[in-house]
Amino acid sequence: MTEEHENLRLELMTSVEVAKAVEGGIRTVIVPCGAVEQHGAHLPLSVDADHADHLGILLAKRIGQALVAPTIRVGCSSHHLEFSGTISLQEQTFEMVVRDYCTSLARHGFERILIFTAHVGNCPSLADMLPRLRSAVPPSCRVSAFTDSRAWLETWRDAVAEAGGEPVKVGGHADLAETSVMLDIHPDRVRPHAYQAGKLGLLSQSDLELMWREGLRAVSANGILGDPHGSTVAIGRHCIERIATLLIEGFARPDAD
Ligand SMILES: [Zn+2]
Repeated sequence: MTEEHENLRLELMTSVEVAKAVEGGIRTVIVPCGAVEQHGAHLPLSVDADHADHLGILLAKRIGQALVAPTIRVGCSSHHLEFSGTISLQEQTFEMVVRDYCTSLARHGFERILIFTAHVGNCPSLADMLPRLRSAVPPSCRVSAFTDSRAWLETWRDAVAEAGGEPVKVGGHADLAETSVMLDIHPDRVRPHAYQAGKLGLLSQSDLELMWREGLRAVSANGILGDPHGSTVAIGRHCIERIATLLIEGFARPDAD
């Protein structure tokens, strides 16, 4: 992340600069969400939060006239709690945090709040709270959230295939896609010597139900969905690119939820 992008981060601006930006017509703000949860033996707990940080800036640059709110780093990760280090917010807590972000930002004159999550486990909660977020802000402010976790995972699978990787290694968690993303944005945080295969392919509906009921370990003993072997910077870049486009197109739809 170079310094020229840092002027898009709301928290690094002064209050005077934010007021001027809004007055000057910058009325869109992006709220990235992440997670602090286990990502196998080869990636740190911060993967989803790091990824959200990176995507937030990329989206702001692409969309234009937009700032990036501080990433909500901790999310809903109860299904990862059996693994050491995972921190999880209850859904009500997560909703209160997101709602307070929205009402604060609306108060300062932002009229478009775009929420996304690099942790797909936050999607059900975000989709559920969206109507309440919308009624918490004045009508002049429009809140959108990208919550299509299936589209996210399918985009990763396609992106991996396009970049020459094996799509079966995409399971959505500490896999070929996510490890490649980290090789691109924070290579120093990846431990390639510790790569292990987890459960291959995308989870079936019954696997998903088992995971929500009994935790991730019930479907993958090592906590990995997919396989990180073969991860490359090129795959990571392509995944980031495709996901950025998916999010921008999602936010641009007139019925954007
Ligand atoms: Zn992740």
